[in-house]
Amino acid sequence: MKLVDCGATELYEVNSLHVFSDDERGPHSKHHVFNRITYDANILWFSITGFSVEHRLAKVTQWFGLFENLFCATCSVCNRHLQIDPRTTQYLPPLWRDIDVKAGESSKAFHYGCLESD
Ligand SMILES: [Zn+2]
Repeated sequence: MKLVDCGATELYEVNSLHVFSDDERGPHSKHHVFNRITYDANILWFSITGFSVEHRLAKVTQWFGLFENLFCATCSVCNRHLQIDPRTTQYLPPLWRDIDVKAGESSKAFHYGCLESD
């Protein structure tokens, strides 16, 4: 995040998002799972550039909240927890979350590989 001086008003500009564990300093994680979430968070962040920063922060925060079951969710396609990720060639939990969740419903989790083969 970068502070932008606009005269009397100070604005913050978000250049990128980074996800890492509590025991890391960042900006990059040693864990593939957090690096994949970082990648998707930035795709989400920059895909909604037409909205206000407040709206975008609310949307990304909502999306991060969908990961409360990150290490216990099973994939909605294969019903497994871990699968080889086609991009990192590492075993990862289902990391894809649909952000358009209706109130009262829980988000479904998917492996990238299961989405691509579906
Ligand atoms: Zn799967």
